[in-house]
Amino acid sequence: MYLQVAVNIHIYQPLEYATPDEITDDHNSADNNTLGLIFSDPPPSSGTPKQCPKNMTGCRVLVPVGSREVLGVVISEHRKNDISDNQNCQRTIKKVLRFIDDVPVFDHNILSLLLWAASYYHYPVGEVFFSALPPLLKNDYPATLPKIEGWEKSDAANPEKIPCRSSKGRDAWNCLRNKPLATADFKNMGIPVTVLKGLEKKGLIKRINLRDRQKPWYQEEITVNHEFIMNGEQNRAVSEICAKNGFNVFLINGVTGSGKTEVYLNVIEKVISKGLQAMVLVPEINLTPQTVKRFYRRFSVPIVCINSAMPAKERLNSFLLFSGGNAAILIGTRSAVFTPMRFPGIIIIDEEHDGSFRQEDGFRYHARDLATVRARMENIPIILGSATPSLESLYNVRIGKYHEINLLSRAGNAQPAKIIPINMCREGQFHGISDSMLIAIRAELAQDNQVLIMLNRRGYAPKIICHDCGYVFLCGNCDSGLCYHQDRHILLCHHCETRYPVPTECPVCKSRNLTVTGNGTEQLESCLKEHFPDESIVRIDRDSVNRKGVLERYLQEINDKKHHIIIGTQMLAKGHDFPEVTLVGIINVDSSLVSEDFRSREKLAQLIIQVSGRAGRGTKKGKVLLQTYWPNHPLLELLINKGYNAFAKEELSCREKLRLPPITSHAVIRGNSPSHKSLSDLMDEIYFFLLEICTVFPHTKIHPPMAASMERIGNRYHLNIVIESETRIELQKFLTTLINHKNEIRHLNNCRIVIDVDPSTTL
Ligand SMILES: [Zn+2]
Ligand SMILES: [Zn+2]
Repeated sequence: MYLQVAVNIHIYQPLEYATPDEITDDHNSADNNTLGLIFSDPPPSSGTPKQCPKNMTGCRVLVPVGSREVLGVVISEHRKNDISDNQNCQRTIKKVLRFIDDVPVFDHNILSLLLWAASYYHYPVGEVFFSALPPLLKNDYPATLPKIEGWEKSDAANPEKIPCRSSKGRDAWNCLRNKPLATADFKNMGIPVTVLKGLEKKGLIKRINLRDRQKPWYQEEITVNHEFIMNGEQNRAVSEICAKNGFNVFLINGVTGSGKTEVYLNVIEKVISKGLQAMVLVPEINLTPQTVKRFYRRFSVPIVCINSAMPAKERLNSFLLFSGGNAAILIGTRSAVFTPMRFPGIIIIDEEHDGSFRQEDGFRYHARDLATVRARMENIPIILGSATPSLESLYNVRIGKYHEINLLSRAGNAQPAKIIPINMCREGQFHGISDSMLIAIRAELAQDNQVLIMLNRRGYAPKIICHDCGYVFLCGNCDSGLCYHQDRHILLCHHCETRYPVPTECPVCKSRNLTVTGNGTEQLESCLKEHFPDESIVRIDRDSVNRKGVLERYLQEINDKKHHIIIGTQMLAKGHDFPEVTLVGIINVDSSLVSEDFRSREKLAQLIIQVSGRAGRGTKKGKVLLQTYWPNHPLLELLINKGYNAFAKEELSCREKLRLPPITSHAVIRGNSPSHKSLSDLMDEIYFFLLEICTVFPHTKIHPPMAASMERIGNRYHLNIVIESETRIELQKFLTTLINHKNEIRHLNNCRIVIDVDPSTTL
């Protein structure tokens, strides 16, 4: 047998191997003698070759690559190879050294998805496969669920021998009369293992693996706790989704507070009642215990979570439980999209517009887009939900690919928050907060309401300069100013995370007259403390929420009204509800209005609407104040007066006029190197090569190499070449041509080149 293997090295194509000599009866058939002729390699140097599993496709294997031994995943198996047909070929085919798995870790649909992703994102196939595996499976860790140690009555148990002296022994025996129990259950009841061992010695009970005895969830009766009654819109949404069979993409475009989650839960109920599984993907910050608890409260079925912050063993168990069909619901962040489903039922992407669904280094992919491809391969429905859908999804609705479902009314008659710009021209301000904002905060606090102030910059101040000569303190490794962090008393580079001591004098003119410019969340906090000394203030940003559980604690404290002023970065705009917040202040919206990134306006509009949705969720009406020097900016006016959908429609027609994504398709070739000279030489060479192949692609345009928005980060220079195609298909063909001719591009030391397809930014 010959195997195509995706090997965990940086090459684009899979490699071919032969199975080891020891093969099972299933494979040891007809062309056995030809195998002997081709297998001219010496026996593997290390490890005993495990017998080939019955189903090899999707299993991990150890294979030789040059002088190294590398892990790979079998993509396909076949009886003949190209080489044995070609008598002139001198190459001999190497053998697989060892099978790591007895059963595949990836099923057929995941293999297809990963192959599709490797070809669409033009990334080396083995690296795509290995970034999809849970971390422990990236080496030869076994893909098996740990035992659950338990006990049951032994068949030969003689009731005469029942312990009468020890009460704990009697308790243990009585507990086991009806059903087996886990050692952990006994510990919870205060019965130590020694008591159980004593009973085992007497032959009364025996040790078992409880996992083998568990009845699968789909054979049990599923109980559901309904907490809310859905309104007409929600009911119609659920019936519309459940009425269609097979692959369909539904976009739930629902205003904040319209109860999208309730729709998801009702659809999931219908799916699991058929014995099928549901996969729910959420943005990173939303996978909090509160989210998970809502699912647990609702359903009696086993639920697992997957995110990158959880312990590796727990993550592997979730992967195995879901892929084996032993869990009904998976709630996970972007990488969970690669978890196999034994009984595929539905995929749900909550807050589909969120940037965290995009993987931004290594194998760059968009989990929303891959989930859609996956749903098509599994032939199941997928729901994308958001109050501020991405322009990509709205465009797909327009061209008829997605079905849009609108939820227009807020649950419980809550009123939408009113958005009001504060004109900063000639407005008095204190550390970046306008007088009008301070007055508004004071008024809300007087009524015992909570206020939320958002500033998307952590630290105290983004720059520290010499007041006498204008010297700016810069990072030694990046083209970036250093941010002053008062709490930690350091200067920090936000690009390479290098820390510097806080200077006392200017290195140029020796002046001690140093000053900070601009403001961050720490400064906002100390300024508000000065103004409202009697109020409790909580700050939520990456610096204050840097340990597990801290965010949950703060969110709970906010709901318990321990704090009246909440300060934070855009972390706060994502999904968490603050029913007692009646005023939201956004400190700076102007930088996004004039950014050179064409997506920045879309992101700003999403942020404003999302953060507005945090206010006035309860019975109280909310208000949102935006500090801007352009209160009459057409985008702000449209968004404030007509809402997100009107804005999105206008922005989409703007993209159409300018021929920008999602109407057209983009890719960026990103190069970086410690040497500016070698990088720019290489990028020029790639550019001229691209121009050459471009002649047969009339609808593709190549831009000359351009410095990235921050050219030097961590002592590496970054240059980009932007490729624009009128169609996705042409862009794909173009990139394939590039990869096929890649060897014609000279490789230089220390230059790293990656292709970024459908980039989140071209900067
Ligand atoms: Zn100076
Ligand atoms: Zn730096």
